Amino acid sequence: MKRSGITHNPGFGTFRRLQVLRAWSVTPHMRRVILTGPELAGFSFYRHGLGPYVKLLVPPINLKDASWPRIGANGAIECPSDQRPSVRTYTVRDFDDALQELTVDFVLHGDEGPASRWAARAEPGDSIALLERGFSQPYGVDRYVFIGDHTALPAIAQSLENLPSDSRGQAVIWLKDAADKQPLRAPGGLSVNWLIRKQPVELSSLLRELDLPASAAGEYLFIWVGAEARLARALRAYAKDELRLPREQCSILNYWRHGFAEGSFERSG
Ligand SMILES: Cc1cc2nc3c(=O)[nH]c(=O)nc-3n(C[C@H](O)[C@H](O)[C@H](O)COP(=O)(O)OP(=O)(O)OC[C@H]3O[C@@H](n4cnc5c(N)ncnc54)[C@H](O)[C@@H]3O)c2cc1C
Repeated sequence: MKRSGITHNPGFGTFRRLQVLRAWSVTPHMRRVILTGPELAGFSFYRHGLGPYVKLLVPPINLKDASWPRIGANGAIECPSDQRPSVRTYTVRDFDDALQELTVDFVLHGDEGPASRWAARAEPGDSIALLERGFSQPYGVDRYVFIGDHTALPAIAQSLENLPSDSRGQAVIWLKDAADKQPLRAPGGLSVNWLIRKQPVELSSLLRELDLPASAAGEYLFIWVGAEARLARALRAYAKDELRLPREQCSILNYWRHGFAEGSFERSG
């Protein structure tokens, strides 16, 4: 039986132009943006998948055209060179089908990133577009381990909220600033540890927070990670070489890479 995997939505690749309905700061470095628009109709949201995500087409600064970007006769996106979007990956933090409202939480890491810059200034009526993507779907898990930094907080929060209430395991989330902690709703059997570190977290200090091998013996363990590429790589090696976990028991993604814009590095290498 296939027990897990990254699953594509049936609507994979569906393109939708949306507008900002509301935007506000949830914590000092996290801005929540609610998107809506007639093109959201039929959006496929897998609430019980782990970390459902989309590709956002972020407009250049100050572009406020509800018909952007235009679709040409052959179905391809047509943009003049000064209107080309930056394509960035974001979690669907929530989706309200009745209200047709899609929630995305953006880490504000500075103005050098087009998505962070856009989110910091987002206001009602602003345009953005998305392409539907996928989520992780593990089955028959005895014990979950979620590991992530600030960028993975939306995915971990979304996943914990929607796991079956008898789920067990732990989540470790690290932040640079304690003020960015958020209250999380998790099943009673799933503990949440926050690490507050100004500097990048090393694998060794992370492993001190976890008790993986001993308590995982004989259980179907599933590890979900969203982190900066260097730590994600170290965790991938640890899961394979030390824990001897097969690939289908892991979803370990490079969520971002220090010094590189999205599109210029691999997600899972
Ligand atoms: C499946 C998936 C889901 C994701 N979900 C979310 C989400 O819900 N919310 C969220 O905020 N992010 C999320 N991310 C991470 C997000 O895609 C990256 O942080 C992305 O690089 C941000 O784009 P940008 O345009 O702001 O910066 P880019 O143009 O990609 O990068 C510009 C510079 O900023 C640096 N940088 C990028 N991100 C960070 C950061 N977080 N902290 C410090 N420096 C950074 C880069 O190293 C680069 O030097 C997700 C990633 C994946 C793969």
